[in-house]
Amino acid sequence: MTVDLSGPLLAALEKAKKEYKKASDNGNIKVAKEKAMECSRILKALAKNVPSYSKSYLDKAKEWERMADNVGKRRMVEKTGGETLDEFKSYIETLISKSTVTWNEIGGLEQVKQLMMETIVIAGLKKPDAVKPWKGILLFGPPGTGKTLLASASAGSLNATFFNVVAGKVLSKYFGESSKLVSALYDLAKEKAPSIVFIDEFDALSLSRGMDMSEASRRMLSELLADLDGFQDKKSGDFVLTLAATNVPWDLDEAVLSRFPRRIYVPLPDEKACQEIIKIHMKGLDISNVSLSELAHKCRLSFYSGRDIASLCQLAMWNMIREENKDLAEYANLSYKELVKRSLKIRPLKMRDFDGAFEKVKAPITKDKIEKYERWNEEYGG
Ligand code: ADP
Repeated sequence: MTVDLSGPLLAALEKAKKEYKKASDNGNIKVAKEKAMECSRILKALAKNVPSYSKSYLDKAKEWERMADNVGKRRMVEKTGGETLDEFKSYIETLISKSTVTWNEIGGLEQVKQLMMETIVIAGLKKPDAVKPWKGILLFGPPGTGKTLLASASAGSLNATFFNVVAGKVLSKYFGESSKLVSALYDLAKEKAPSIVFIDEFDALSLSRGMDMSEASRRMLSELLADLDGFQDKKSGDFVLTLAATNVPWDLDEAVLSRFPRRIYVPLPDEKACQEIIKIHMKGLDISNVSLSELAHKCRLSFYSGRDIASLCQLAMWNMIREENKDLAEYANLSYKELVKRSLKIRPLKMRDFDGAFEKVKAPITKDKIEKYERWNEEYGG
C-alpha cells in the first residue's frame, strides 16, 4: 500500500524555503546552504511520491542543489556588481573633459571640417522628422592626421561634454565587463548632453585577438551599436554624437561599417594644409623669414602628418631657443621668484633652424600605405 505523503512534504518544503530565505537575507551562509539542501531532499522525496510530477520535482531539486552551491558565491557576485558600478562611474568621469579646441586650430581638412560642422548644426536645429542627423561618424586615415583634434573641436564648438574613450584600453581594463561600461558611458553622455563620445582605436573592437578577447570585443561592440541604434530610434532631443576613429579601416567588419554610413577620410595634409599647420604650431613666433612653401614641399615629400609637422616645428623652435639662450641651464639655480622676472630670448625663425629637424622626424607612413587608404576611401568612404 502506498501512502500519499505529498501534503506533509509540501508543507515541509514551504517551511524549508522560508527558513532558507531568512538565513540568506541575514547573510547566514551555513544555515542557508543547509536549508537549500533540505529543499532539494524534500523535492526528491516528492518526486518518488508523485510519479506524474517526478521530472519537474527532480529538476527543481537540482536547482536547489545549485542554489546551495552558490549561496556564498552569490553574495560575492552581488557585492562585486555594486562595486563595479561605482568603479565604472568613476572611470567614465576620468574620460570626460571640456574641450577648448576650436576649428581654427586645425590646418587644412576644409571639407572634413565643413561636413562635421554641418552635422552638428543640423543636429541642433529644429527640423522635420524626415531629416535625421548622423548619430555616428567614422573618421579614418593615417595616424596623427587630426582625427582626435576634429573630435575635440566638435566638442569645443558646441561646449559639449567630451568623452575620450580608447577602445583598446577599455577592453583590457574591463575585460568581460566592457559592454556594461559602454552602457554606463552612454547613460552619462545622455545625462550630460550635448555630448561627443570619441572612440579611438575603434578597430580594437573588430579585430580578433584570440578567442576570449574577440568575445569581449564582440560584446562591447554590440552594446555600443545597440546604444547607437537606440539614439537613432528614440528621436531623442539629447545631442549625443559618436565619433569613431581608426588608422586601419580595412580591419572593420561589415556589421560595424553598416552602423557608420558616414565615413570620412582624414588624409595627410596637402602643401597648402602643411603651410597652415606650420603657422598654427608657430603661433606667436615670427616666421616671416622662412619659406613656408619650401618647408611645406619637404613635409609633403616626407609624407608628414599634422603630428609630424608639430614635432618638426618644436625641434626648429628649440634650435632657435637654445641658440639665443646659451645660459639657459644656469637659470636652473634661480628661485622661481627670480625666474619669473626674466624673459626667454627669442628671434625670428630662420630656415637653418629647421636643419637637422627633418632628419629627426620620421613619418610612420609609406606611399603604399597611402594608396591603401585611398583605395579603401574610394570603395567605402563617403
Ligand atoms: P589622430 O587622432 O589622427 O591620430 P591627432 O588629432 O591626435 O591625430 O593629432 C596629433 C597632434 O598633431 C595634434 O594634437 C596636433 O598637435 C597635431 N595635428 C594633427 N593634425 C593637425 C592639423 N590638421 N592641424 C593642426 N595640428 C594638427
